[in-house]
Amino acid sequence: MHRQYLYVVLIHKIDWFSLLLHPNFQNMPSVFEHMQELEHEQLVFCHDPKSGLNAIIAIHNTTLGPALGGTRLWNYSSHEDAVVDALRLSRGMTYKAAISGLNLGGGKAVIVGDASKIKSEALWRRYGRFVDSLNGKYITAEDVNTSARDMEYIAMETEHVTGVPEFMGGSGDPSPFTAYGVFMGMKASAKKMWGNDDLSGKKVLVQGVGHVGQYLVGHLVEAGAQVFIADISEPKLKETVDKFGKVKIINNDDIFNMEMDIYAPCALGATVNDDSISKMKCAIIAGAANNQLAVEDKHGPMLIEKGILYAPDFLINAGGLVNVSAELDGYNRDRVMGQVEQIYDRTLEIFDLADEEKIHTQAAAMKIAQRRLEAIAAVNARL
Ligand code: NAD
Repeated sequence: MHRQYLYVVLIHKIDWFSLLLHPNFQNMPSVFEHMQELEHEQLVFCHDPKSGLNAIIAIHNTTLGPALGGTRLWNYSSHEDAVVDALRLSRGMTYKAAISGLNLGGGKAVIVGDASKIKSEALWRRYGRFVDSLNGKYITAEDVNTSARDMEYIAMETEHVTGVPEFMGGSGDPSPFTAYGVFMGMKASAKKMWGNDDLSGKKVLVQGVGHVGQYLVGHLVEAGAQVFIADISEPKLKETVDKFGKVKIINNDDIFNMEMDIYAPCALGATVNDDSISKMKCAIIAGAANNQLAVEDKHGPMLIEKGILYAPDFLINAGGLVNVSAELDGYNRDRVMGQVEQIYDRTLEIFDLADEEKIHTQAAAMKIAQRRLEAIAAVNARL
């Protein structure tokens, strides 16, 4: 079969023209090859020319429950990039839910477009219809460039949405919970590295001061850390300085020239790579971004060699997922905070396992998550 016919699993309509015009189209791995490699169940392409919607919903694994994961709005440079991002992010959600003890599967959606131009009520409601057509197999939430307000429109068309505003009975913005979990993971990393979890006086660089980054800066300032920030958005930098006063701005291109105790990536993934590791002068990496290691089994061991302790991203950034998932069982904020605090102990357990088995910390976290997935798959098989 010609490769282009392999490109779609479940299709409503697709922008075939730009796919066929892609310069590397003939050399790209097919979507099925990508899915097989990352072990996905389903990929859904959604297209609506009137509202300008081009969305991809990736369902990675539903062993533990319905696939829950946010919808990211991003101006991808190609459809291939969007597909790969949806596949990688949804796989991360499977492991995040598994390691957090949640009865949820892994899913994620991406919408292709410029966030400053394409958002409209019609686009969100049309997207909500597509989510609804999956009958609860996928539950959406916020992610980069999507807000509780956008979820409100989606909720007009489907009940399979979380992170809706509080006045609608939802839990609102998950970012403060994500940031608190990252802070817990960072303190556990400090305990492992320096024998105590006091962050006062530590130099911490937060890259990306958006929703999560700003809440994290708040915790760090309160803990007495020396906080440095970098972002590509001038308004976000200014907003953060206005809010917290004491923080110092670092040029985003210069961050790895700086000596710091902790690097906290809170923007986008793959910032831990060959180039950055060769320059890094820090003791710990602990941040909110998903998929921080460009290539897990290459960059995890490289960090060990450099003596840098890596707090697995999907473990410490699970606070937001814990929060939105609580909407499904009856929301209780105190219970959620208690669950998010457990990230501290779980991070220490993962570090111990990594030491015992002489594996990198991301591999140790994956191992624990995989164990739970296998155990519950066996339970499901016996039903
Ligand atoms: P956000 O869009 O509110 O903030 C991201 C910030 O990063 C923005 O200020 C943006 O200008 C900046 N940025 C983008 N590209 C950059 C670059 N190349 N260099 C420096 N700064 C850059 O997103 P968020 O909700 O704060 O999420 C941040 C990260 O955490 C994302 O990777 C997201 O997937 C992950 N995450 C978020 C949550 C959550 O609850 N929001 C949960 C889990 C994981």
